[in-house]
Amino acid sequence: MTNNMAQLYQQVCDHARQTAMIASIESVLGWDDHTYLPAAAGDYRAEQITFLTGQVHQRWVDKAFGDWLDTLAADHLATHPATDTAVVIHRLKRQRDRRIKLPQSLVEELTRTAVLGQLAWQEARAQNDYAKFRPYLQKTITLKKQQAEALGFNDHPYDALLDEFEPEEQTANVGRVLSGLREQLVPLVAAILNSGRQPRMEILKRNFPVEVQKTFGQRAAEAIGYDFKRGRLDVTVHPFCATLGPHDCRITARYDENFFNMAFFAVMHEAGHGIYEQALPADYYGLPLCEAASMGIHESQSRMWENFVGRSRAFWRHYLPVAQAFFPQSLGDVSLEDFYFAINDVRPSLIRVEADEATYNLHILIRFELELAMMQGDVGVDDLPSAWNDKYRQYLGITPPRDAEGVLQDMHWSGGLIGYFPTYALGNLYAAQFFAQARNELGNLDGMFERGEFEPLRLWLREKIHRHGKRFTAAELVEHVTGRPLSYEPLMMHLYDKFRPLYGLD
Ligand code: ZN
Repeated sequence: MTNNMAQLYQQVCDHARQTAMIASIESVLGWDDHTYLPAAAGDYRAEQITFLTGQVHQRWVDKAFGDWLDTLAADHLATHPATDTAVVIHRLKRQRDRRIKLPQSLVEELTRTAVLGQLAWQEARAQNDYAKFRPYLQKTITLKKQQAEALGFNDHPYDALLDEFEPEEQTANVGRVLSGLREQLVPLVAAILNSGRQPRMEILKRNFPVEVQKTFGQRAAEAIGYDFKRGRLDVTVHPFCATLGPHDCRITARYDENFFNMAFFAVMHEAGHGIYEQALPADYYGLPLCEAASMGIHESQSRMWENFVGRSRAFWRHYLPVAQAFFPQSLGDVSLEDFYFAINDVRPSLIRVEADEATYNLHILIRFELELAMMQGDVGVDDLPSAWNDKYRQYLGITPPRDAEGVLQDMHWSGGLIGYFPTYALGNLYAAQFFAQARNELGNLDGMFERGEFEPLRLWLREKIHRHGKRFTAAELVEHVTGRPLSYEPLMMHLYDKFRPLYGLD
């Protein structure tokens, strides 16, 4: 790199870091909005956030920033493609190129439709009246098609939307993996149902005082490696994990005094996201090397700690006695096997966010297939509720009695989020593949969990995944870490290994 180019690179990094600083201020306000903001302060907070969003956007589309990136890309990417510098230039340029392809009028129309769409959806869901939401969904689909055209795509318009969350991933690849998964998962779920076995769910629905749940959850999050010196745990309606700065990643949960799972597994999930964020290289904060590879990879980390660790027998061999000390009245008489079966109850249900580890993926598959069909024009908004119900019958053997518990249950489409759902299933798939590889390399993980040792797994994840930031795409990362492309097989193996013995299947 010549002096001139080195100076230009410095300018680009300074610009990107300042943009990230404004975005982090927006995150502080957003976190506050979801935790402690007084109800009456909402309108002004929305103005503050909109203002900062505008500032961030202006900085991304800034002409000089674009010129610097173009010059650096022409000079540097061709000659040193594998360096940190090249990764930063390539990722920033890619992100900027996407932003400038969208005409201002389309961005505004998308934002307006999302705001109005969410209001209409809330009302439609409350009144179980799909017709109230239908025109907004129609508008959203039309705009999303325009967005895909503006962004450009090789194969399928959905590629352009998916790219927002899974950079460089292809619809055809996701479709191939998910339909392979579906072919094995639908019969497994049917066999579980036909087994006639059911755990004693009553165990989890006893009394669990909220304050005690908070302490217990915090202790578990700490044990798996979430760092409370650089984070905290608060209460919200919808649990989330938010990064507010290089050493400030916060998680939230919600509590039900009469249901153990709600808070505990949310804490494990969000702590999994938090452990990833806390392990990104903070020196690069504001640059792509300190950003998660993709939403799917992010979700793989939360699912791994929630399901592969937190719902394992080995974990509870260590933690059930601890839990019994925290909740002696409710768990004192519960055996490990009864508890383990209850937290792994599989049951087809109507609501995605309440679904278990096995059926969850079918909820996602249904949404992915319907999004594709809507983008292709194969399913119109008039046919959507019946298409939804048909798929629930086909894959889960149940029919939503009302649209409020069917097609109207999720907020995603009302807010213009199309292409997001598959990242949840990708998260489960990546988690399974990474976890199988960790087991190959680290040996007896169960033995470690039984002793309450989680650091070997956490450090392995940091070494293999976290420290790379956005150096690799998700597809490259999974190849790099496991030596093979994404496959549904590790997830199915995990589900077979767990559920066949629990439900007495062969
Ligand atoms: Zn998550």
